[in-house]
Amino acid sequence: SFTSPASTFKYADLQVQKSTNLKEKPDPDTLIFGKNFTDHMLTIEWSSTEGWHAPKISPFANLSLHPASSVFHYAVELYEGLKAYRGVDGSVRVFRPYENMKRMLNTAARATLPLFDSAELVQCIAHLVNLDIDWVPPSTTSSLYIRPTFIGIEPSLGINNSNKALLFVILCPVGPYFKTGTFSPVSLYADTANVRAWKGGVGNFKLGSNYGPTIHPQKAAEKMGCQQILWLYGEDHYLTEVGTMNIFILWENENGEKELLSPPLDGTILPGITRKSLLELGEEWGEFKVSERPITMPQLATALRQNKVHEMFGAGTACVVCPVGSILYQGEQFEVPTMKDGGKLCSRFYQTLMDIQYGRMEHRWSYTV
Ligand code: PMP
Repeated sequence: SFTSPASTFKYADLQVQKSTNLKEKPDPDTLIFGKNFTDHMLTIEWSSTEGWHAPKISPFANLSLHPASSVFHYAVELYEGLKAYRGVDGSVRVFRPYENMKRMLNTAARATLPLFDSAELVQCIAHLVNLDIDWVPPSTTSSLYIRPTFIGIEPSLGINNSNKALLFVILCPVGPYFKTGTFSPVSLYADTANVRAWKGGVGNFKLGSNYGPTIHPQKAAEKMGCQQILWLYGEDHYLTEVGTMNIFILWENENGEKELLSPPLDGTILPGITRKSLLELGEEWGEFKVSERPITMPQLATALRQNKVHEMFGAGTACVVCPVGSILYQGEQFEVPTMKDGGKLCSRFYQTLMDIQYGRMEHRWSYTV
């Protein structure tokens, strides 16, 4: 297939150099996302002449790279984000890691970076997490974030596929997303000027170059008093994503049916693993219609005015689900009644995924390290 590797590194070749200078663990209650890193990291080098080198675990340290490396000039970079959770039984589980591997390989192919065997990376990551297992917070609201990263390090300014690449994985403990412990709905700015991704573009790949340019519009939305951007696409203002989350709407649709809708994977949307999981759960429950189809802002506005929208939420690894409370669109403020009746569906999705992640429910989506 498109993403089957010509060659791969092997977990069996893993070299481990343990840190002799273990760091102090941060207070789990005051963790800021992405600021604290564990004692070790995984690095795997590749070159077109030698292929994949042996994977290495070593003490967390700075990288030393040639200044002409393609990552610095042409953003030849991709990443993944997944989490390890300390379950109520003490075991540490990762949620659907093979789904992240699939997305990582798809993105690597698009970035002309070399492919590898998913199972080998998953085992290397499991080894890394086990080595830093004391960094997985003993809490059912916290977790250890896993950040696989893959960069082109060809030391040449030519815009060409890299003959050298580096895959590395770093880990950081993260605290609760909802600081107050309860679901707090977010306010959205429906941006009609800035576009995150477009048809024929790369919005469906987890390339770092999709994210840097979102910071400026995000700051502008914050200045207008909104917490996150609702990314729209095209003249008709199709809904695509919320911040770095996929979108879900539970509503009574045009035909009077109760429907859970998420915009389709048409190339402008990142195929989220949480999104996929919620769609699968919704189908399994069979209590409402589940659809992947487009919806425009004018259609949503009409449904909101007619009180036909029950819930709207974002879905992603960071929060699982995040209820939407309001949308500012073309100067008009729309209230979204997601939490009016307690946010029944988003709360149920939240509970179900947390039960799986923290091992209160045995499930095929859990991978025990
Ligand atoms: N959309 C975007 C743009 C994202 O960056 C993410 C986070 N990876 C998601 C959606 C949610 O994806 P996932 O459920 O895999 O975390």
